[in-house]
Amino acid sequence: MQNDPQTPAGRSVLVTGGNRGIGLAIAKAFLEAGDRVAITYRSGDVPDGMLGVKADVTDMASVDAAFTEVEAAHGPVEVLVANAGITRDTLLLRMSEDDFTDVVDTNLTGAFRVVKRASKGMLKLRRGRVVLISSVVGLYGSPGQVNYAASKAGLIGIARSLTRELGSRNITANVVAPGFIDTDMTQALPEDTRKSYLSSIPAGRFADPEEVAGVVRWIAGPEAGYISGAVIPVDGGLGMGH
Ligand code: NDP
Repeated sequence: MQNDPQTPAGRSVLVTGGNRGIGLAIAKAFLEAGDRVAITYRSGDVPDGMLGVKADVTDMASVDAAFTEVEAAHGPVEVLVANAGITRDTLLLRMSEDDFTDVVDTNLTGAFRVVKRASKGMLKLRRGRVVLISSVVGLYGSPGQVNYAASKAGLIGIARSLTRELGSRNITANVVAPGFIDTDMTQALPEDTRKSYLSSIPAGRFADPEEVAGVVRWIAGPEAGYISGAVIPVDGGLGMGH
């Protein structure tokens, strides 16, 4: 293992959608590690100790303004976690073009917008860690989630292309692919869908957001500096064989 002396604790970290669910757990994990943590949010409160910047990832001007605010307070973003995401589940024949493009615009193009903006600062710093929050569904597929699965699979293409484009600048880009995590997003699922997922998960349980957060913090840390373009499952074995 090579410890990188240029990436100590106290890095400028930005988590999109860090006000609740998995994003909040990720933001707290970095805060506990002593990092300077900023989150984007559209609603709710900002937890103590974090910088909250209002931003909508579907709007480049809003993303740009958020980064400018974070840079002024914490310096260039060294760790970017693109976590903001939505679902608009319905079967293909009922899925409107808006259902498809809205999900892709938030989950995939939204990630593109923040990654592009963050890469400017990372290139100047000559270091950076990008973590894209995908889903087991990106590679496993899921009925009723053609839009969501497409957006989450696309993140792998972004991470791997970034790795090839920016890898020589001490910038890594990885995908974390959670399975079924207890948050508002999964609370919204019908009970029979939750039951059917549960029966397919080898671990026999859903996970807490903190179990994703620890993996994100690790993949963004110095111990994982030689891992890039990887897809790391946090799914209790649901997606084995991808
Ligand atoms: P939640 O629904 O609990 O939270 C979603 C977050 O994304 C919120 O902070 C929300 O902000 C933010 N967000 C949504 N749209 C936008 C937007 N246009 N601009 C800025 N922020 C936005 O979801 P989870 O915590 O469950 O999910 C977080 C990520 O993990 C998502 O990408 C999701 O796809 C992924 N994931 C979740 C799994 C699960 O089982 N829960 C499994 C696999 C992946 P606001 O509060 O303002 O709406």
